[in-house]
Amino acid sequence: MEEQMSLFPEAEDRRPPQSVTWNGWHGCNPCSSGCLHCYMMRRDKEYGKDPTKVHKTANFNLPVRRYRSGEHKGLYKIPSGSTIFTSFTSDFFHPAADEWRAEAWAMMRERSDCHFFMVTKRPERIAAALPADWGVTGYDNVQISCTCENQYWADRRLPVFLSLPLPHKSITHEPMLERISIRKYLKEYGEQIESVSCGGESGPEARICDYAWVLNTHMQCVEYSVPFYYHQTGARLRKGNRIYEIPREHQHTQAHKAHLDFDGTRLPAWDEPDTEAD
Ligand code: SF4
Repeated sequence: MEEQMSLFPEAEDRRPPQSVTWNGWHGCNPCSSGCLHCYMMRRDKEYGKDPTKVHKTANFNLPVRRYRSGEHKGLYKIPSGSTIFTSFTSDFFHPAADEWRAEAWAMMRERSDCHFFMVTKRPERIAAALPADWGVTGYDNVQISCTCENQYWADRRLPVFLSLPLPHKSITHEPMLERISIRKYLKEYGEQIESVSCGGESGPEARICDYAWVLNTHMQCVEYSVPFYYHQTGARLRKGNRIYEIPREHQHTQAHKAHLDFDGTRLPAWDEPDTEAD
């Protein structure tokens, strides 16, 4: 019998998964206080470019590009199982990208063997921007995180975001600009929230992030058994009465040293010691 082509070519891919950044479009407009020192905008201005001109990039079809020759001929350039960080020099739901988004969703559907992660400050645009076949369960390989940098935006974005039919939802406080209470959202939607992540601001004009705010969010997550990550300290960290200036290369490692990351395990109820005499 003639040897047939495998119906599962992805299983032939022996390359290890990678972390890849995919910016299918570039450019954005500030939409809230967290955008004040946007890294993308700062970089574009340094290079004399207008960061508010949203344009499709040369990497638009990166997730579905394949090798045309060589050892991996026919395989996707991005290995199976990879995590693809999506739209980190724009907002995936920016209105200027409406005409390109359907094609981007189609690529994510095609690459159901990869995990796509994106962060947005525009959850109010998500419902109308989902693809027709999203349904009530959505694409299982897509995780969307909603950024809320302060209480004002948490109370406007989270009620909208958390009521959406998204299979994987998380919350980001980055740059964290003040103490933020998300207790009522953790209480109502805790089962759906896959993680909460905190981080400070980077760059020469970074605003201070107070470690007490981070600790407070950590405690809220422990209370509701929601995974928590202290992503990075930012460039200026207040801890007690001191302010630390932290070089970029140490911001992730220093946050990690706080040992605040929590996997969401429900903690056992406190056992009161038996004080009754026998
Ligand atoms: S939404 Fe994100 S990419 Fe857009 S201006 Fe704000 S920080 Fe920059």
